[in-house]
Parts: sequence; structure tokens; C-alpha cells
Amino acid sequence: MKTIKFILTGAFSICVLLASCTQPKSDANSEKKEVQKDTLQGTIEDVLTKEEQAALTPDEVIQSFKEGNQRFINNDLTARNHSEQVRKSTYAQFPKAIVLSCVDSRIPVEDVLDRGIGDIFVARVAGNFINEDILGSMEFACKVSGSKLIMVLGHEHCGAIKAAVDDVKLGNITPMLTNIRPVVEAIDYKGDRSSGNDEFVQMACEQNVIAAINDIRKESPILNVMETNGEIKIIGGVYDMDTGKIEFMD
Ligand SMILES: [Zn+2]
Repeated sequence: MKTIKFILTGAFSICVLLASCTQPKSDANSEKKEVQKDTLQGTIEDVLTKEEQAALTPDEVIQSFKEGNQRFINNDLTARNHSEQVRKSTYAQFPKAIVLSCVDSRIPVEDVLDRGIGDIFVARVAGNFINEDILGSMEFACKVSGSKLIMVLGHEHCGAIKAAVDDVKLGNITPMLTNIRPVVEAIDYKGDRSSGNDEFVQMACEQNVIAAINDIRKESPILNVMETNGEIKIIGGVYDMDTGKIEFMD
């Protein structure tokens, strides 16, 4: 009798274990649950549709970014069937957001937010500053393509910020840094204002993100009106190089 009881208990435990394996992970976002399919080794093969994009709010996109970054930190990136996603997004795209980031090789934007094909637009320039081309790209993303969020993503230990702090002069880097230098000069700081001072570099990084957000609102009446109407949100973030965590400034 004891043996039968043991076998029954064991069988029950295995069933519970198997059932829990097929359940979506508790920290996975709702979009992951919706599109999760077990037909291809549990990978996600769907891409965002026009209807799904239209149903999203800016706050839901921010929340999905926070959850995606947490999965990146946990080394738990979503498995995606990229070739299937390529085929499904051949003729149209309905990304939920546009992210402006630095060119830094240590920050693969899609990965740190756990995004796949068709999920987000990404604009990149050293020092993640705003210019006319970037603004045009953002207007295309939001006004034409229906994205709900603009995120300016700066990062710790940024070489472009350090170069602006030290007022480096070199080729085309010189005019590029004129986009960041005014932000550095405007910082009220009495200590060491060189790139050797991590505290000052970090201040410049954060102020540079805030300046970019202000520039978007000031230089793009289209995006300004969309934000005022609640159609989009414009937020910042700073990526921590030690942990992979994004501090959201929303
Ligand atoms: Zn950088």
C-alpha cells in the first residue's frame, strides 16, 4: 500500500512539474503570452499587427520595456523564430516605439529591451542627441507608422559624452560634439569637470538625455501635439553598464 501511495504521489508531482513547465513564466508580459506558440520549440513567430499596435497605450509600451529589460537582466530573453518573423513582416511594420540610443557596441538596443523583428524603430548616433534627421525619423515612426512611445536612451561611461566633456577636436567628431557641448557647459558643477570624474560624466549623460527630450518637444510641433493629446509619450532612460539595468526617467 505504501508503494502504491508513493507511486501515486510521485506521479502527481511529475504532473504538477510538467504543468508548470508549460505555463508562461510569471514575469513574462501579456504580449508574450498572447503570441507564444508551442508549434516551433516554444519560439515566438508572430510580429506586431496594425490592430495590436493601435490597441496599445504609451504606458503599456513603457511597461513592456521595463519587463523586457528585466528579462535581459535575468538572462531570460524571449526565444524568437527570426526567419518566420522576417517572412511575416516583409510588406508592413507596426512598431510600438522608437528608441534613440548611442552607437555604443555594448548596448544592443533590441536585446536590452527584449524586442524582436518589427517591434521597435531604433535611431542611433554617438551621444544620442537630436538633429533634424533624427526628428524626421521620430515623426515617421509616430505620425506615419503609429508608434506610441519615444525613448531617449543614454548610457554610463559614454565615450561621446566624455569627448564632449573634454572638448575633443578631431575631424568630423568636432562638429558632432557641438550637439552635446552646450549641455555640458550648462551644468552647474564646481568640482573636476573632466572625463576623469565619473560623477561629472554621469551628470552630463543624464542632462544630455533630458536635453534631447526637451529638444524633441521644442523642435517638433508634430510630436509635441501628439504628446499633449496623449497619443504618445516621450521618456528617457540611462543604461547601467555594470548591471544591464535601464533607469527609466518617465
Ligand atoms: Zn555612448
